Amino acid sequence: MQSLWGATATPAFTLPELKGSARSQVVIIGGGYTGLSAALHLCESGMDVVVVDAAELGEGGSGLNGGQVIPGVKHDPDTLEQMFGPGPGAQLVETVASGPDLVFGLIQKYQIDCDPIRSGWIQPATSESALAAIAARVGQWRRRGAPVELLDRRQVSRLIGSERYCGGWLDRRGGTLQPRSFLFGLAHAIGRLGGRIFIRSAAIKLEQAGGQWRVETPRGQISAAVAVLATDAYTGELVDRLRKTVIALPSFQVATEPLPQALRQSILPQRQGVSDTWHLLRYFRLSADGRLVMGSRGYFGNAPVASAARHHYRAVQEIFPQLHGVRYDYHWGGLVAMTSDHLPHLHELGPGLLAGLGYNGRGVAMATVMGRLLARRILGVSSEELGFPATPMRPIPLHRFSQIGVRLAIEYLQVVAGLARTRARLLGRRATA
Ligand SMILES: Cc1cc2nc3c(=O)[nH]c(=O)nc-3n(C[C@H](O)[C@H](O)[C@H](O)COP(=O)(O)OP(=O)(O)OC[C@H]3O[C@@H](n4cnc5c(N)ncnc54)[C@H](O)[C@@H]3O)c2cc1C
Repeated sequence: MQSLWGATATPAFTLPELKGSARSQVVIIGGGYTGLSAALHLCESGMDVVVVDAAELGEGGSGLNGGQVIPGVKHDPDTLEQMFGPGPGAQLVETVASGPDLVFGLIQKYQIDCDPIRSGWIQPATSESALAAIAARVGQWRRRGAPVELLDRRQVSRLIGSERYCGGWLDRRGGTLQPRSFLFGLAHAIGRLGGRIFIRSAAIKLEQAGGQWRVETPRGQISAAVAVLATDAYTGELVDRLRKTVIALPSFQVATEPLPQALRQSILPQRQGVSDTWHLLRYFRLSADGRLVMGSRGYFGNAPVASAARHHYRAVQEIFPQLHGVRYDYHWGGLVAMTSDHLPHLHELGPGLLAGLGYNGRGVAMATVMGRLLARRILGVSSEELGFPATPMRPIPLHRFSQIGVRLAIEYLQVVAGLARTRARLLGRRATA
């Protein structure tokens, strides 16, 4: 299963495997956006940093995602202020909203070649009740001065090229990029600033000795005063309690052949990223070479690719009937880390040991922000000034069963959606699920 992003990324430079012993001020485990953003911000402050990743660069969520730069987290700003109180809540809203500025700012600063387009992010509504929630969301962001607009059915149809939705909103802060090229660009910038990245170097042991963290990999080891865990949905048994703080949910994507020019002018002519309000969430965008890239929950490790892909072909067909007969060139999947409170988590697990993870499908911007937060904390910013709370690590009770339960719920919802489609077809109209 080769991803579109793997096939079209700017060439990666050759990175070594860790062999022998190394020392640094900070060691980062995980080379996705969280780890590389933390490394880059630390390198910018003159710190000596080593990153180790278990795989090739880009084989985690950061090289596989939809490339949609989405502002904010799952909770609306008023909810965040209710959850954390007016002062810290407002600071938190500012922090999470800063994601797209940070991402597009880094692209500009380091001249990262990753097809960035900042024409906004659209959330179209699949029902009137979802539209009512969107109207409230737009009001909350507008009161905070964000460039957001409520869209009626006609406006959504014009921007997306689909009659499927009853309205939505446009958040002009967001956009799209080639996710793997963005990751490679961060890695290049780290290399230029003297940071070191080792691939195929899984951390297999993490222990503290003599005031240092010692990370062991199959063929080497690193000692550092500070260690950062940036492994998100790919967290393994290295710190088993951390793995149990998230549910790793599979998400799957397909990419069509490049669309003819006429269709590119009617489907997403301004190239926004889109994530709809359907219960299984469908997200889509055009790539730089004019392919429709659509993703949704529901790739299960053991299920044949063809079966996972079929759900997506049907979704494309339902939203864009004008793409009937289109060819699909790429299919791929990855893991998304979901948290029980729908918030990303920053943990301080002990003296000099930090972790950041759990972006609930919104990590392009938020993981990049988390990396900067981790770097700031390491550089001595107090937790009060940070603008994001460090929370205790709380493994999800009955983690194994919760993970299976969530996957079963998704399969159940796919069956329900399939039945709704069949019923609508029999009744001779389009599904409204
Ligand atoms: C299919 C898909 C679509 C998505 N679409 C979007 C989207 O459009 N917009 C959006 O905002 N977000 C999206 N996301 C979410 C986003 O990709 C993630 O939130 C983000 O990439 C997380 O970054 P990260 O650096 O924390 O983790 P990752 O990028 O997953 O990196 C973790 C790294 O840790 C490494 N690792 C694990 N264990 C070890 C170990 N023991 N030693 C060394 N290394 C280790 C892994 O190899 C991996 O490279 C999507 C995710 C997926 C999977």
